[in-house]
Amino acid sequence: MDFGFTEEQLQIKKAVREFALREIAPYVAEYDREERFPVEIVRKAAAHGYMGGVVPVEYGGAGLDHVTYTLIIEEISRVCQVVGCALSFPSGLAGSAVLRYGTEEQKQKYLKPLAQGEVFASVALTEPGSGTDVAAMRTTCRRDGKYYVLNGAKAWISFLDVCGWVLTFATLDRSLGHKGICAFIVERGMPGMTFRPYKHKLGFRPLCTGEVLFEDCRVPIENRIGEEGEGFRVAMCAVENGRLGVAARALGMAQACLDEVVAYARERVVFGQPIGKFQLVQSKITDMVVGIESARYLTYRLAWLKDRGVPDLRREASIAKMVATDVALMAATHAVQIFGAYGCSAEYPVSRYYRDAKVFQIVEGVNELHRVLIAEYTLGYR
Ligand SMILES: Cc1cc2nc3c(=O)[nH]c(=O)nc-3n(C[C@H](O)[C@H](O)[C@H](O)COP(=O)(O)OP(=O)(O)OC[C@H]3O[C@@H](n4cnc5c(N)ncnc54)[C@H](O)[C@@H]3O)c2cc1C
Repeated sequence: MDFGFTEEQLQIKKAVREFALREIAPYVAEYDREERFPVEIVRKAAAHGYMGGVVPVEYGGAGLDHVTYTLIIEEISRVCQVVGCALSFPSGLAGSAVLRYGTEEQKQKYLKPLAQGEVFASVALTEPGSGTDVAAMRTTCRRDGKYYVLNGAKAWISFLDVCGWVLTFATLDRSLGHKGICAFIVERGMPGMTFRPYKHKLGFRPLCTGEVLFEDCRVPIENRIGEEGEGFRVAMCAVENGRLGVAARALGMAQACLDEVVAYARERVVFGQPIGKFQLVQSKITDMVVGIESARYLTYRLAWLKDRGVPDLRREASIAKMVATDVALMAATHAVQIFGAYGCSAEYPVSRYYRDAKVFQIVEGVNELHRVLIAEYTLGYR
């Protein structure tokens, strides 16, 4: 086994770290407080080639291997995981769905500008009444000549302020379950689609998240992704890359918690000594180090297996996502505790890490679902 990175990967990691410290770190607290998506920073990152990810070069991507892609997302997320989220989107669900199921024309029209950072996209799967149980969706589509007519509502959809198009899902007939679901790209401005953003959510604040409403929204048939009834497969095709992206972001954030804690524990003096000398503080640091190392191994192993072309890595993706996001919350909880009252202030980033870490356990499949899936793969039920 080879646990090392190549010389080129190490250089990219260093360059991304420098970029993140120079271009993101000075602004992140401010745009998080203002709940503003830092579009200018993401575009700059895209210009450096950090957005193209694993998308092939002919579709505007960087054509990277998964390990290098993971390094980029981890290092960016060590400073701001929301920027990490935006950079992972072309390689995650939005891009993968078009790459795998889109026609050549759809790839040129939608994937290319997305991978180059010219256009952002939303993925609208969750509904007010169904999140984990995707097949229970209520948004409907019916064919009408050269159009489909969509009606219904999606909830908790991100990138609403900047998206140029929305990849969404609707059912032809609820009684067909997941076999009735179709996938569509609805362009911003198409009549019948409106957005209702939320404010003041717990974490991921720079992401504009909210409801997408469809009222007799007419979508041309050429905007369907995949065949009729193939929408569930379209939604599931990117779970490995989507979960790899979330694991890398959570890992980067957990590492940021450790970076902050090490600096603070050496400096903060209580009872005449740096708090790093207290064994109960050391115990928390050990939990963080061991958790982060475990999460890093599982995340990069998933990326490495993908690069080797190993088919069906859903089990490994669930393990990496669950462990990395659980570790992120543990690391953020310890970080706030070690910072004491200062951990509760906006002066230090650990309070933001704590808010974001909880959300990581909910997105890309709630961690309870991954816990169940891992057992079911092991028991042979799947
Ligand atoms: C900040 C943020 C951004 C988001 N962005 C997007 C987006 O861009 N696009 C999008 O489509 N969605 C998005 N979501 C929605 C997210 O994907 C869903 O919240 C998630 O899938 C869970 O669905 P739910 O909230 O409906 O929870 P539910 O499915 O209602 O589950 C509620 C709880 O029930 C328990 N539970 C559920 N299933 C199981 C099970 N099988 N076994 C045991 N316990 C279980 C868990 O405790 C779970 O947390 C976002 C959410 C947040 C918070």
